[in-house]
Amino acid sequence: MQMCGDISKTAARSRNMAAIKSKNTSPEIAVRKLVHALGFRYRLHADDLPGKPDLVNRAKRKAIFVHGCFWHSHGSPICRRKNTPQTRLDYWGPKLQRNAMRDMKNLSALLDLGYSVLTVWECQIKDDLYLKTQIQYFWEEK
Ligand SMILES: [Zn+2]
Repeated sequence: MQMCGDISKTAARSRNMAAIKSKNTSPEIAVRKLVHALGFRYRLHADDLPGKPDLVNRAKRKAIFVHGCFWHSHGSPICRRKNTPQTRLDYWGPKLQRNAMRDMKNLSALLDLGYSVLTVWECQIKDDLYLKTQIQYFWEEK
């Protein structure tokens, strides 16, 4: 009995983590809808590519990341969503720094593979026109 309880607790926890961190987050769905509306063809979650880009078109070698401003330390001065933690900096500082390092490594690995990469930030999702223009430009550039 004890074991059953532990297993379901673990499952619940990993579901929560997944909801917070990676797949099918709402900014990602917003971008996906937009890309679809524009008629561009992307596949989701290319697990074999560096950083597992959220949307990928292999034929055109285009990859799109949708990044949460907090988790990926959005560097824009006008970003209001990065919410740099005021407490437990000893914990968050190195953690976020590791994320940023990993993002940079993945980006350069993708560029080495001949991909163009677009990063869409969570705080940009609301601005539909800006986002649309950005994605369209990215798709059409050679
Ligand atoms: Zn941001």
